[in-house]
Amino acid sequence: MASMAHLQKEKLRLQEELLELQEKLTAQENNELSLSLQLQGQVETLKAKLLEQAQEISRLRSEQGGTDAEKHRDLLAAENERLRQEMKACEGELRELQRQQQAPCRDCPHLQENTKLQEQLSQLQQEAEETRAKLVELDLEVQQKTNRLAEVELRLKDSLAERAEEEERLSRRLRDSQETIASLKSQPQQIKYIIKTVEVESAKAKQALCETQSRNQYLQEQVGMQKQVLKEMEQQLQRSQKTEAQLRAQIMMYEAELERAHGQMLEEMQAMEEEKNHAIEEAFSRAQVEMKAVHENLAGVRTNLLTLQPALRTLTHDYNNLKRQVRDFPVLLQETLRSARAEISQAIEEVHTTNRELLRKYRRELQLRKKCHNELVRLKGNIRVFGRVRPITKEDGDGPEAANAVTFDADDDAVLYLLHKGKQVSFELDKVFPPQASQEEVFQEVQALVTSCIDGYNVCIFAYGQTGAGKTYTMEGTAANPGINQRALQLLFSEVRGKAADWDYAITVSAAEIYNEALRDLLGKEPQEKLEIKLCPDGSGQLYVPGLTEFRVQSVEDINKVFEFGHIKRVTECTNLNEHSSRSHALLIVTVRGLDRSTGLRTTGKLNLVDLAGSERVGRSGAEGSRLREAQHINKSLSALGDVIYALRSRQGHVPFRNSKLTYLLQDSLSGDSKTLMMVQVSPAEKNTSETLCSLKFAERVRSVELGPVSRKAELGSWPSQEHLEGDSPGSTASPGRGHASPSPGQLSSRSASIRRKLQTSGKLRPVPL
Ligand code: ADP
Ligand code: MG
Repeated sequence: MASMAHLQKEKLRLQEELLELQEKLTAQENNELSLSLQLQGQVETLKAKLLEQAQEISRLRSEQGGTDAEKHRDLLAAENERLRQEMKACEGELRELQRQQQAPCRDCPHLQENTKLQEQLSQLQQEAEETRAKLVELDLEVQQKTNRLAEVELRLKDSLAERAEEEERLSRRLRDSQETIASLKSQPQQIKYIIKTVEVESAKAKQALCETQSRNQYLQEQVGMQKQVLKEMEQQLQRSQKTEAQLRAQIMMYEAELERAHGQMLEEMQAMEEEKNHAIEEAFSRAQVEMKAVHENLAGVRTNLLTLQPALRTLTHDYNNLKRQVRDFPVLLQETLRSARAEISQAIEEVHTTNRELLRKYRRELQLRKKCHNELVRLKGNIRVFGRVRPITKEDGDGPEAANAVTFDADDDAVLYLLHKGKQVSFELDKVFPPQASQEEVFQEVQALVTSCIDGYNVCIFAYGQTGAGKTYTMEGTAANPGINQRALQLLFSEVRGKAADWDYAITVSAAEIYNEALRDLLGKEPQEKLEIKLCPDGSGQLYVPGLTEFRVQSVEDINKVFEFGHIKRVTECTNLNEHSSRSHALLIVTVRGLDRSTGLRTTGKLNLVDLAGSERVGRSGAEGSRLREAQHINKSLSALGDVIYALRSRQGHVPFRNSKLTYLLQDSLSGDSKTLMMVQVSPAEKNTSETLCSLKFAERVRSVELGPVSRKAELGSWPSQEHLEGDSPGSTASPGRGHASPSPGQLSSRSASIRRKLQTSGKLRPVPL
C-alpha cells in the first residue's frame, strides 16, 4: 500500500513536472515572439528617427554650407531670403492694415460728403457746361441778330440814300417843272397848253410824290419797326448778358465750393496719409520687435542645433548599434531557438522516457491496485445485502391485514423492525431503504458497483423477495421512474463517454430467463429453445452460453428497444406474465469490453441484473403437478444461490455453483473478485409478515457470513433451504445476537458435508483462532 501511494505520488510529481516543462516551453516561445515583435517595433521607430535625423542633417547642411565663408554667405543669403520673406509678410500685413484702415472710411461721413460734393460738382460742371452752351447759342443768336440789324441798317441807309436821291431827283424835276411853268406862262397859248400839260404832268408828279411819300412813310415805319426790333434785341442781349453774368457768378461760386471741397478732401487725404504713415511706423516697429524675437529664436535654434549635434551623434551611434543588433538578431534568435528546441526536444525525450517509465509503473500500479482492491474486497466482503421496504399499496387492501408492520431506526439506516405476531424483531443489514426511498436514492447506493464493471469487475445485483414485494419495481421500475436496469445502463454510457479519450468501449446486452431450471434466450429468435451453459473451448475455464443473443447498445434508445423486445417475447410466450415472472428468474446481462488505446490493456466486466423468482413458500398441501415442480425448482435455485453466497463469503474452497442453472450461469460473476449485491425486497403489510420475516432472515444470514469468529463457526454449516427458513422461529432472530444465527448441526445437508470434506482436503481452510 505504501509503495503504491509512493508510486502514485511520484507519478503525480512527474506529471506536474511535465506540465511545468510544457508551460515553460510555451512561455519561452511566447517570450521570444514578444521580444522579436518588440525589437521589430524598436527598429521601426529607430528607422523613423534616423530618417528624421538625416533630414535634419541635410537641412542643417544646406543651412550651414561648405566652408565657413560659404556657410556664412549661405547663412546670410538664407537670412536675407528669410528677412525678405518677413518683409514681404510685413508688407502684406501693412497692406492688410491699410485695407483695414480704408475699410472703415467707406462708411466715413467725410468720404460720403466728398462723394456728394463731387457729385454736386460734376452736376454743377454739367450745368455750367450747359449754360455755356446756351450762352454760345445766345451769342450766336445775338451775332445773327446784330448781323441782320447791320443789314437792316445798311438797307435803311440804302433806302434813305435812295429816298434822298429820289427826293433830289424829284425836287430837281419840280424845279425844272416850275421853271418850265414859269417860262411857259410867259408863252400864253403854248404856255397854256404847256401849262396844262404841265399841270397834267404835275398831277402825275404829285401822285408820284404822294406815292413816294407813302413809300417813304412805309419805309420809315419799317425803320421804326426795325429800330424797335433792334431795341428788343438789345434788351434781349442785355438780358442774356445779365444771365451770363449770373451764370458766371454761379459757376464762380460752384468753383469756389469745389475748391473748398477739394481742399477738404486734400486735408482728409493728408490726415489719412499721416495715419497711414503712423500705422506703417507702428507695423514697422512691431515687425522690428518680431524680427528681434525671430533673431533671438534663431540664436536659440542655433544653440539648440549645437547641443543637438552631439545628441545626434549619440543617436546615430545608438542607431548603428541597434542596426547591428537587429542584423545579428535573427542569427541570435535562430541560435536561441535552436538551443531552445534542442532543450525542448531533450525535455520531451526525457518526458517520454519518464512517461514510458510511468506507464510501466502505472501498469504495475494498476495490477497492484487490482490486487489491493481484491484484498480490500476480500477483507470487507464483496457481498452486500440491502433491504428495501415497499410502500403499502391499494392491492394490500384495507383493514388490519393492510396495517404497517415494519418500522425503522431514525439514527441507523441499517436497522429495521418487524412486528410479527405481537413481537418486534430487529434486523441489521448493510442498508435499509424505507418505503419513501426513491429509485434514484436506491440507485445512488448501487452505482459504485455498476461503474466498477467498467474497470473489469463482474457484478451481480439480485432482487430477492416474495411476489409483490417490489423486485420488478426495483430492477425494471416504471417508464416514468425507471429502476436499476435502465439507470445502470445510462450510467455506463455516460461513464464510457467520459473515458472515450483514452478508451474504446463496447457494451452488449443479453436477456435470459430461467424457468424450471431451463435457460431461455429472451432476445433470440427461438425463445422456447433451451440453452446450455458450456465451458469455453479455449481452455480458459470460462463458461459461455452458445446461441445466447447479444445486442450491442450505444444509447438509451437502444436499451429501450431491447427491453421492449424482450418484454414482448415474454408476454407472447406466457399466458399469465405476472404469474410466470414470479416463477422465473429474469436476467439482464450487460457486458462491458474496454480497450485502453495507449496501453493496449483490455478489460471485460459483466453486470448481471437478476429479478429472482418469488421467494414465497408454496403451501405444501394443494401444490401438485406443474405448480409443485415450479415451487421445487424455485426453492432449489434460491437455496443454491444461498449456498453459493454462503460458500463464497465464508471463503470455502468449494462453491457449489453447479447446483442450479442460475448459480452455474453466474459462476464467473460470483467468484473471484466479483461483487454481489442482494436487494431483499419486503412488504410492510401485516398479512405478509411471515414472508417478510423469512426474507429478512435470509438477508441477515447472507450478511452475517463474515470472516470472523461467528462466520467461521458457520463455515462448516450449510445454507438453509427455503424450507429451513420456513421452519425458523422468529424468536431466534430477535436475540441480542441480531440474527447472527448459524444453521444448527441438524440442518447440515449432505451437500455441505461433502463441501466440508472438500475444504478440509483442499487445505484452503485456515485454522480458526477462537
Ligand atoms: P415483484 O416483482 O416483487 O413481484 P412488483 O415489483 O411487481 O413486485 O411490485 C408490486 C407492486 O408494488 C407493483 O404495483 C409496484 O408498482 C408496487 N411497488 C413495489 N415497490 C414499490 C415502491 N418502492 N414504491 C411504489 N410502488 C412500489
Ligand atoms: Mg416481479
